Amino acid sequence: MTNTKDYITIRGARENNLANVTVQIPKNKLVVLSGVSGSGKSSIAMETLYAEGQRRYVESLSAYARQFLGMMKRPEVDTIDGLSPAIAIDQHSLSHNPRSTVGTVTEIYDYFRVLFARVGLPHCPECGREVSRQTEVGIANKMLARIEQILAKQAQARLMVLAPVIRDKKGEFGKLFFNLKKKGFSQARVDGYVFSLNDDLFLIKPNRHNIEAVIDRIVVTKKDYSADKLRQRLVDDVQIGLDLANDLVILGEVKDKGFAMPEKPKDFADLLFSRRFACPDCDISLPPLEPRLFSFNSPQGACKKCNGIGAQLKIDESRVSPWKAQMMEKQYYSTTSDVIRQEIEKYMIKEICPVCRGRRLKQVSLAVTVDNKSIAQMTELSLEELRDWIKKLPGKLGTDAEAQVAGSLVAEIGGRLEFLVSVGVDYLTLSRSSSTLSVGEAQRIRLASQIGTGLTGVLYILDEPTVGLHQRDTQKLIKTLKKLRDLGNTVVVVEHDEEVLEAADWIVDFGPLAGKLGGKVVAEGTPAEIKKKRSSLTGQYLSGHKKVERREPRHLDQKHRILLRGCQEHNLKRIDVNIPLGGLVCLTGVSGSGKSTLIHDTLYPAIKQALDPYFKQKPGVFTEIAGVEALENVLLIDQSPIGRTSRSNPATYSGVFTDIRQFLAQTKEARLKGLDSTYFSFNTKGGRCEACAGQGMNRIQMQFLPDVWVTCEECGGKRFQAPVLEVEYKEKNIHDILNLTIGEALEFFSSFHKITHKLEVLKKIGLDYLELGQPSPTLSGGESQRLKVARELVKPSRKDHLYLLDEPTTGLHADDVRKLLAVLEELIAKGNSVVVIEHNLDIIKNADWVIDLGPEGGEKGGQVVAEGPPNVVAVNEGSWTGEFLEKHVFGK
Ligand code: ADP
Ligand code: ADP
Ligand code: ZN
Repeated sequence: MTNTKDYITIRGARENNLANVTVQIPKNKLVVLSGVSGSGKSSIAMETLYAEGQRRYVESLSAYARQFLGMMKRPEVDTIDGLSPAIAIDQHSLSHNPRSTVGTVTEIYDYFRVLFARVGLPHCPECGREVSRQTEVGIANKMLARIEQILAKQAQARLMVLAPVIRDKKGEFGKLFFNLKKKGFSQARVDGYVFSLNDDLFLIKPNRHNIEAVIDRIVVTKKDYSADKLRQRLVDDVQIGLDLANDLVILGEVKDKGFAMPEKPKDFADLLFSRRFACPDCDISLPPLEPRLFSFNSPQGACKKCNGIGAQLKIDESRVSPWKAQMMEKQYYSTTSDVIRQEIEKYMIKEICPVCRGRRLKQVSLAVTVDNKSIAQMTELSLEELRDWIKKLPGKLGTDAEAQVAGSLVAEIGGRLEFLVSVGVDYLTLSRSSSTLSVGEAQRIRLASQIGTGLTGVLYILDEPTVGLHQRDTQKLIKTLKKLRDLGNTVVVVEHDEEVLEAADWIVDFGPLAGKLGGKVVAEGTPAEIKKKRSSLTGQYLSGHKKVERREPRHLDQKHRILLRGCQEHNLKRIDVNIPLGGLVCLTGVSGSGKSTLIHDTLYPAIKQALDPYFKQKPGVFTEIAGVEALENVLLIDQSPIGRTSRSNPATYSGVFTDIRQFLAQTKEARLKGLDSTYFSFNTKGGRCEACAGQGMNRIQMQFLPDVWVTCEECGGKRFQAPVLEVEYKEKNIHDILNLTIGEALEFFSSFHKITHKLEVLKKIGLDYLELGQPSPTLSGGESQRLKVARELVKPSRKDHLYLLDEPTTGLHADDVRKLLAVLEELIAKGNSVVVIEHNLDIIKNADWVIDLGPEGGEKGGQVVAEGPPNVVAVNEGSWTGEFLEKHVFGK
């Protein structure tokens, strides 16, 4: 082998289907792992490289953390040399914590908080008046500036420094005057008139009064004015005044007349200064400007009403009883479990907080501005607008000192924003709540945050970063990956996208096929070398030897359609959308153009509501829907997990497990023991192991670390009790059968049509490599989605169903895409309609009808840019999708 220190060397990897793999990953390079779905890419990337990286990390931690080390699964591998600390940026969605936003996840908001604390201008939340922040010296300097102003116009300036001890209060204040006199003051201004404290002053008790102690009288002439001489005197005056009058002091200019007493209110022009941040008029005192004042996760900053959530989630009382609603609400705000929170959220409706109006912060915090914008306004700008704004900020700040303070912050913020814009999420805002982001958006945000940290010597592992990304933005993503590499990191990417493969420094291709037919390295080398390898499917597709064929589009009858009018949710621009039925419709458009808003938030709930009066989810804004009567039902088949417990798996989900259980219950052995099919279920008591409730594993919760699953000691992971495990068919018991892959099970049960019929469907969609009993939570989003499609195909002949799919090619190699297309065709052949959101050109070119949204993301999107068969969209000048269709499909 070559110089080992330039490589991460894995020897004898056997995780999942890996066939004792030995492979070298070049360091400080962009390395792409390729291969058909199920070939073993994630097994090497996540479960071997990353898992071992994590283990070594924990090993380096405290004794407390290390006590769990034994519980962390050691990957099935002989040795890994040259491993660096690993960071995985996978497709797990970001936190469901309602306090997590794009701003907090990227840490950009934290920099903004510091920026606002350093150079923000506070305003009174009541009257909006600017409240200046000042030290004694600062106030004295402002007074000097005022004096210079006067002297520029006249030869002499007469002034008073006053301490406003009573502001607009009722009373006689005899005692106050007495005390002032005792402290050595000789004059006071009362309701604008200056009196000697030696006079007996009687105020009218029920009236409101203003009383100021006269600290000093100053007369300066142009001739003998010296700022340096006067400054110290003013600083002393200010100090006395502020201490006396609760942090307020006044510079009163005496106009026209001399000091003839009593002077009248109109003789004065006052300047009011405050040391604490307080509005002298509304008498509201403002807290000092600190970063936490702008944090909605801190009591100093958070809106009192909504606790910084910006909205109040309320249990929808039309769905549960009031007492239950109360309990659920309480639990929602006290739980730390994301899972429980998500469950409860299903019953909740959101109401924008009436106090902060969704801006999450207290009024005082919202009243602080930088360049006339509050921090909340800042977080409402698109990331692109925000980047442009921050670039110009230093030039707009008042003083050089401020510009200097802002300088380093601006650099940090600007750099991070630049990356976010460059990975194609320019349309998002900092205020956007993380839980509403798509997996692709979340992944790209985490990617950009990593670059912001500037770490080097790290092994980054990414799982299909092109998910949700339009071809137009793929090059930008590649640039970002290279940047990460050039910082001195090793970047390992699991990817199918042709452009990413072409950009790789090195490709490791897994295969030849999936599951037990895969798990080997079939080719490694530069893209050019891979293309020459006959053994590599990836190489064949890259070189163009193999490709997904295009078929001619069906002609779809425009009368047989769903018409959705006036769509206006999020960025949609009151659009009318026409979806022809009876074929494959592809919805395209750059990230953020409005595809999910149209399908998930509007079309699906709108149709569902029309079909089912009990359906609760409220659709996004639209005016009218037509054509629904042609549909029997609508199904949204997304990438959400199909089950959260490890008792759910491909066998249970597809329904084949029921048949297998019945089959086993009919064996002689089972009948002799009196075991009916319920004994073979791990969902009901009876036959299953009770120590693990049929899961084969038990979850151990650990503080500060993710939960750990350990094999059940009682059943040794076999999930059933001994009598059940004794029942065998062809020398395999239920546990062995669950360990078969779908492909193997097909052979095993070959003579039982009821079982094979369902397994065939799973195979057809390319899932034959999955084990029957593989726990659902370990399935990828793409696998879950294909399993959902398969379940639809298994059901007895259905027609007039509308299937909505969101990027079904996630996780698919070009060779898998062919299979997927065939399955979608089958759904259509049965008399159903399919709408897919897709970026994959092999799917788009095979659609009967394309609807392209755009032209851009966010506010600059939300319109139908082009519609028609692929060849028509290809020649549309304004469509990005058209441009790529033309270049890669029709123009060739
Ligand atoms: P790829 O990333 O190339 O799609 P994977 O590495 O995810 O492939 O899967 C390789 C094989 O290992 C497949 O047969 C898959 O079903 C199996 N596999 C993956 N994860 C698990 C798991 N947690 N338990 C059992 N089998 C698994
Ligand atoms: P696509 O699916 O084409 O990537 P989306 O429908 O997700 O686009 O987004 C369209 C626009 O709507 C974007 O500006 C996006 O930021 C905004 N948007 C989407 N979901 C939400 C949400 N839950 N809250 C606020 N804005 C949203
Ligand atoms: Zn058990």
